Amino acid sequence: MNKMHRTLSLFNTLTRRVEPVVPVEEGKISLYTCGPTVYNFAHIGNLRTFLFQDLLKRTFRAGGYAVTHCMNITDVEDKIIRDSQAGLPAEATNEQRHGAMTALTERFTAIFLDDLETLRIQKAEFLPRATAYIGQMIHLIQDLEAKGLAYPREGSVYYRIAGLPQYGCLAHLDREGMQAGASVDADEYERDSVTDFVLWKAGKPGEPSWDSPWGPGRPGWHIECSAMGMELLGERVDIHSGGVDLIFPHHENEIAQSEGCLGHRWVNHWVHGEFLMVEGQKMAKSLGNFFTLRDLIEKGVDPIALRYAIQSNHYRKVLNFSFEGLRAAENSLKRIRAFRKRMEGEGQGGGGPWAEALVPLVRLEQARTEFWAAMADDLNTPEALAALFTLISDLNAQDDHVALTRDERNAVLAFLDEADAIFAAWPQEAASLDAEVEAFIEARRAAKAAKNWAEADRVRDQLKALGIVLEDRKDGSVGWRKG
Ligand code: AMP
Ligand code: ZN
Repeated sequence: MNKMHRTLSLFNTLTRRVEPVVPVEEGKISLYTCGPTVYNFAHIGNLRTFLFQDLLKRTFRAGGYAVTHCMNITDVEDKIIRDSQAGLPAEATNEQRHGAMTALTERFTAIFLDDLETLRIQKAEFLPRATAYIGQMIHLIQDLEAKGLAYPREGSVYYRIAGLPQYGCLAHLDREGMQAGASVDADEYERDSVTDFVLWKAGKPGEPSWDSPWGPGRPGWHIECSAMGMELLGERVDIHSGGVDLIFPHHENEIAQSEGCLGHRWVNHWVHGEFLMVEGQKMAKSLGNFFTLRDLIEKGVDPIALRYAIQSNHYRKVLNFSFEGLRAAENSLKRIRAFRKRMEGEGQGGGGPWAEALVPLVRLEQARTEFWAAMADDLNTPEALAALFTLISDLNAQDDHVALTRDERNAVLAFLDEADAIFAAWPQEAASLDAEVEAFIEARRAAKAAKNWAEADRVRDQLKALGIVLEDRKDGSVGWRKG
């Protein structure tokens, strides 16, 4: 079957332009996103990035694509080692050191996945832990060595950036300014110290290590994503994403590693989300200006209001976190949900003339077109939601005067569902609908048992008005579906 998919465009950090995403395989998207470093609770700045990626993924899904998403879990890294080894005696064995590291990372991985679920972030198809791919990382480094792009030194291995002509293509670095021969051991460094970077770190006392051709040691952070991404998504990936702080050095180095090994372009579209800020500063653990999701929930914040507050702003604009912003989000959601309830029920209509009479289905189609045009243009959620809100006020006004028909109401509900497949913030309330319908079915059963056919038919018609169709089954039970 030739399935329809919408053309969706995203800003590509490689070219600094909004470009249509043309998948390697028609109708399919492979998506790699850099996951969390699991040594502590994620803060809502981190979660902003994961919410933006969920928006991206859901938009492609709603646009008709089959998306395969890989999000790694960084479970070996400088900060993880620092925090997990702190309580261990100097004579602890390598096994004990690994055990302490795993205990910390398992705990925070579970908490992280829980946070994603609370925020209705769809789980990735692949959630690889870096420590399960050490073998692939070693192979990749060996391959880079064989190609002359990596060199060992005192038990560590470094990437030779001068060997790759495209080094700097993502961060748009000035190649003239690069310091040939200098190298850096830290995973995180600034762009004014562009140097050869570490692929494999020689083991140090007090750290867990793995055996390798260069002696005991552990992987650098950047090689982790290249190895997992290539292993699980292959040699050509459609979209790779993270926060803007990952453009350099992390993603620049991922390109160097993967393209150095493959000899061709690895990722077509690099997409980066802006920061969540607090009073003009990036929200960060190191600055102590952060909230976790749990902090907010304790303060009575609805996590879905946070989801909406973040997603209703454009992902490439810095967003200042505030409680007023959350309240505004709660109000917007109330408005959409109240409209949904209104469309689920029946309108009365005033019967009076309406100066700006509109044809609901035509108006609906116009809003739908505007909504998708905005989403297709670099995930422009403020415009897409503006289209939804103008539709809501127009149809509310119309319904006050001339009630929309059941068919029109159902068409509006279908559009609300379509938009909610992306925003996941105004779903049909399944539980309450279930209870309502079951109560009606019971009333109809009682009426039938009393041979009160008129009453039984009246209940059936009431359900029909709710858009519910009853199905009398052979075994005497009654099923139902949305009609
Ligand atoms: P980490 O767990 O530190 O590896 O970060 C996970 C993700 O959160 C990365 O993609 C970062 O770019 C992103 N990130 C970190 N701080 C912020 C922030 N204040 N706003 C938005 N994204 C952030
Ligand atoms: Zn990464």
